[in-house]
Amino acid sequence: MNCTPSEAPCLKECPNDAIEVLGGAITINEEKCDKCKQCVDVCPIGAIHI
Ligand code: SF4
Repeated sequence: MNCTPSEAPCLKECPNDAIEVLGGAITINEEKCDKCKQCVDVCPIGAIHI
């Protein structure tokens, strides 16, 4: 909830389009996620745990 969706680094970084915006919140679609952890590396507040 820290980043506005249009500016969230994780959304831009994910190679699988697994990070989605649902109701204004950023969520990870586990069916698309391959656990590469690229989003973890770019999250400015360490909010993503794989
Ligand atoms: S760990 Fe999953 S959600 Fe994160 S960048 Fe990789 S595929 Fe996308």
